[in-house]
Amino acid sequence: MHFFCPSCWKEVREEVIVCPACGVDIAAYESRHDFADKLISATEHFEQETRIRAVWILGQRKEKKSVSKLIELVRQGSDPFLTVTALEAIYNIEGSECLDILKEASHSLYPIVSNKAKTLLDILED
Ligand SMILES: [Zn+2]
Repeated sequence: MHFFCPSCWKEVREEVIVCPACGVDIAAYESRHDFADKLISATEHFEQETRIRAVWILGQRKEKKSVSKLIELVRQGSDPFLTVTALEAIYNIEGSECLDILKEASHSLYPIVSNKAKTLLDILED
């Protein structure tokens, strides 16, 4: 069984109380932050697979409080696969209120991103 710090998502031993990587008090952090907060911090995880999974789950759960973070990820645009997943998540959460970020992303240099943005815009504008 693997345990991860809920703040920085580095792997820690189960019995650890204070994360050796970021210094957070793990039990106190757990009680202060809800599941959405943990998913939002996991969008910065060092493993791409975990980042993408966190973004996808936020979209499935329609976590309103994650929208500004998801928009930030789209604007950073450093990872086209993460960006596509973030666009889908924003679309799931915001529906027609996400037109602006979709229009922005439709100019992405990554075809996978611009095509996804255009596809979602087409659905919304129908
Ligand atoms: Zn940590």
